[in-house]
Amino acid sequence: KQAGNQHWRFFSGEMEATTQNRVRLLTELRSALNQGKGLELHYQPQVASDSHALVGCEALIRWVKASGEAISPDVFIPLAEYTGMIVDIGDWVLREACRQIVRWDALGVPGFRVGINISAAQFREPDFVAKTARIILESGVAPSRLELEITESVAMEDPVSVAHQLRELKALGLRVAVDDFGCGFSSLGSLNRLPFDRIKIDRAFVAELTPETREDCIATMIVKLAKSLGLDVIAEGVETDQQARLLDEMGCGEMQGFLYARPMRAGELEKWIACSAP
Ligand code: C2E
Ligand code: CA
Ligand code: CA
Ligand code: CA
Repeated sequence: KQAGNQHWRFFSGEMEATTQNRVRLLTELRSALNQGKGLELHYQPQVASDSHALVGCEALIRWVKASGEAISPDVFIPLAEYTGMIVDIGDWVLREACRQIVRWDALGVPGFRVGINISAAQFREPDFVAKTARIILESGVAPSRLELEITESVAMEDPVSVAHQLRELKALGLRVAVDDFGCGFSSLGSLNRLPFDRIKIDRAFVAELTPETREDCIATMIVKLAKSLGLDVIAEGVETDQQARLLDEMGCGEMQGFLYARPMRAGELEKWIACSAP
């Protein structure tokens, strides 16, 4: 019994420490956001499977603290979602991506599409569509240049209201993609009722793709499903030539992954485009 008690005390001490860490991290994140310091967007190219031509990129947030320590979005995004700060972060991400598109246009960089991650808490805000429309309108960017990525789990939570919201976003001229597809075990029927433009296969399913498993691999089934529904499909996390070849053979039209390029700063992407131009 005593051991149990000791164990409990140890556990509670550890919990407090992590809670304190989280609170400190969130305070630092809030001031980074307010001061416009330390947050940055990186852009990862998306290429056509056959020509390897750039077709778009995904904007991915980066946070480097004043101390120089980089915090992964896998750490701070869930925290920001939990406290609701993600709504302000999401606004910053959309504004920053639009500002970057305007800069690229001024530089004469080819007009590729930019994918923006939308978190569950953002998408559920009652004024999400109106606010998104306002930010894009103010920026002067053509909505067709943007693709909003909404995770499969969010999309399937309440398909009726999600379908309504997606139609509103599409009426603005935006593209919408299902992110992390394959994780949420959607039924074919519910996906068919949602007006998505494309499916992003989560990298977990790309990783398990080998010539031996190709027949019963989830990635294979997702490509088939997407094609049968007339949706575009992109695979994320493509790391090897073999994965790229298998995906291309299945008819997956676009790819994103370290095999082609890592996420990079806007300036680096400009150089990457200049170097990879035919
Ligand atoms: P995600 O939306 O699934 O983004 C893809 C993640 O896979 C990115 O991680 C990207 O850097 C990584 N990745 C791309 N290609 C490869 C590859 O070939 N191999 C491997 N191992 N990884 C690859 P990142 O940038 O660390 O972002 C992690 C997650 O954080 C994202 O997952 C997304 O859920 C979230 N996130 C990032 N930026 C934002 C944002 O601006 N807003 C919101 N709401 N969430 C974001
Ligand atoms: Ca091909
Ligand atoms: Ca994404
Ligand atoms: Ca993913």
